[in-house]
Amino acid sequence: MTNPLLESHVLPPFSAIEASHVEPAVSQIINESRTYLQNLLANLSRPSWEALVAPLEEQGDKLDQAWAPVSHLNAVRNNDDLRQAYNASIALLTEYGTELSQNEQLYKAYQQLADSEEYKKLSQAQKQAVDNALRDFRLGGVALSDEKKKRYGEIQQRLSELSTQFSNHVLDSTQAWFKHFENASDLAGLPDSALAQAAQTAQKKSLDGYVITLDFPSYYAVAMYADNRELRKEIYTAYVTRASNNSQKVNVDGKVEFTNEFSNTEIIAETLALRHELAQLLGFNNYAERSLATKMAQSTHQVLEFLQELAKKSKPYAQQDYTELKNFAASKGCADLQAWDTTYYSEKLRVEKYSISQEELRPYFPAEKVISGMFDVVSRLFGIQVRHLSDFDSYHPDVRFFEIYKDGAHVASFYLDLFARENKRGGAWMADARVRRNTTKGLQLPVAFLTCNFTPPVGDTPSLLTHDEVTTLFHEFGHGIHHMLTQIDVAAVSGINGVAWDAVELPSQFMENWCWEPEAIPLISGHYQTGESLPQSLLDKLLAAKNFQSGLQMLRQIEFSLFDFRLHAEYDPKNPHTAQEVLHQVRREVAVVQPPEFNLFENSFSHIFAGGYAAGYYSYKWAEVLSADAFSRFEEEGIFNSATGESFLREILQQGGSKTPMELFTNFRGREPSIDALLRHSGIEVHSNFIEEDAV
Ligand SMILES: [Zn+2]
Repeated sequence: MTNPLLESHVLPPFSAIEASHVEPAVSQIINESRTYLQNLLANLSRPSWEALVAPLEEQGDKLDQAWAPVSHLNAVRNNDDLRQAYNASIALLTEYGTELSQNEQLYKAYQQLADSEEYKKLSQAQKQAVDNALRDFRLGGVALSDEKKKRYGEIQQRLSELSTQFSNHVLDSTQAWFKHFENASDLAGLPDSALAQAAQTAQKKSLDGYVITLDFPSYYAVAMYADNRELRKEIYTAYVTRASNNSQKVNVDGKVEFTNEFSNTEIIAETLALRHELAQLLGFNNYAERSLATKMAQSTHQVLEFLQELAKKSKPYAQQDYTELKNFAASKGCADLQAWDTTYYSEKLRVEKYSISQEELRPYFPAEKVISGMFDVVSRLFGIQVRHLSDFDSYHPDVRFFEIYKDGAHVASFYLDLFARENKRGGAWMADARVRRNTTKGLQLPVAFLTCNFTPPVGDTPSLLTHDEVTTLFHEFGHGIHHMLTQIDVAAVSGINGVAWDAVELPSQFMENWCWEPEAIPLISGHYQTGESLPQSLLDKLLAAKNFQSGLQMLRQIEFSLFDFRLHAEYDPKNPHTAQEVLHQVRREVAVVQPPEFNLFENSFSHIFAGGYAAGYYSYKWAEVLSADAFSRFEEEGIFNSATGESFLREILQQGGSKTPMELFTNFRGREPSIDALLRHSGIEVHSNFIEEDAV
């Protein structure tokens, strides 16, 4: 029996991969890797790059090559068999990862290399890879006593299980609820695109009429547009209680019942306790300190100060935003603005104030036009060409495949999976399928998975994006080019590898800027019926509306960041506060809007409980400072200035994790980052006398 995951492929052999291949392949590669490492260490007389790091990188890449498509399929084409195989393999991978990071002999070999004369002759990227490896060994507990090592391994294993359970609960809980309507009039207010989507969802469930779900596009359309206040409250309640002790599911009779079967409450408590214990095992005071060990930020104090500074600057603006919204809602007959009204009235206010709606913009942003325009943008900035390939091994008919060329040479490839569908995880993200590196057979080119959850084409109407979705696409493509345009050949620091978490959003948020630029709009927009690009009048409104409620939005992100950071920094095992308590405390201090008591959004806050953002959610804001400041150089020198683009490509995109983010940033910007550009872009001026003038 052959197993495609055990074969070497330039691209993942999707059509041949079955769930039954997963665990045997992962387990076989891990076992081979164990033996390989043993032999290598046994025969190692003098650790050098060629004798130690290069062969291990080669072996490690086998595992990455097998795992990348599995992990991707689990996210975009999930089913019970695959999920089971995935979970079983995650356990093996975690165990192996822990074993590697606690291999003292291997650690000593790296240490010997770092102390040797040869180290001095290594390239910058190689040195950084060795330094990172040593840091990670220490973080992996290699210096611990045997007893503590054992405990460390147990904790890691359990944390990994908890993280997988957390995200499965969110997915299951999201899918457990839906609501069926016979008539479009029941969904009054919803735009045609959302209605068509709801009708399509109904068809898939073999129902007449319309079905709304908790998938984000469906939820959001109702929250934003449904005139029926009770319905908004109903879907809001179901949405913000997902994966809680009080989450909702629709039973076989179509009735809603409450359940705790998807609850993440206990999972959160256990996760926090274990993270704290883990951090202390390693000699840190708390998990926030542990998190910062691999980040650009230097101390928990620095992060808290950074967030509090931003909160202080934004709060008056947020307060003003909220007062304006409340007054507006009251003028429309809603005197007691509730959480399920804010999105609805915000959109109405935005339309009235700027007479522009996301829906109105959709026709100008057909996905095809946006994609080709985005490729034009990067072509002008970085001198690259993107070519579509129709012949490739796919995993779903929606998926497209592209190759990137620079100076006539093929440098990278990527898969683009744009549309929301069943059994696909919500949100948008970039993941690597192949990393750029030197192999014994030559250069391996980087390959990326770009995934979004946009509204698919409905009938004869092509997929039309809101401007928010356009921005999301640019964001993910920014991650993509960071991974794909790298010139670093050392896997550990190539592309997004080895890049500090709080700097990894720099290229992605940076790319979003082009969605707002008058010079770029004609490239990325074109009415799907007339081909007319977004008219200047609409663009002016869009720009005027850009900072609509930016104070509220900024504060909301700071709230999430402070919640996450304090949850980990202030954890006290003798008196552990629940996540809900910490959240309330943070909100009391910084928020201007208090959500209802039953809002348990933290139970579906996958970023910090099932993603890599634990005590790191602040990274978004941190990186926004970097990206806004980097973009301000383009504002000064021209947004399509190819020399500036070339400089960004050379100093940032191509460098991966081969140098510290601070070095890369200062090389590009000529100085250290400043928060001024971000505040200016958000309409929050640095030296403003706003507070004195407008405080209520
Ligand atoms: Zn991102």
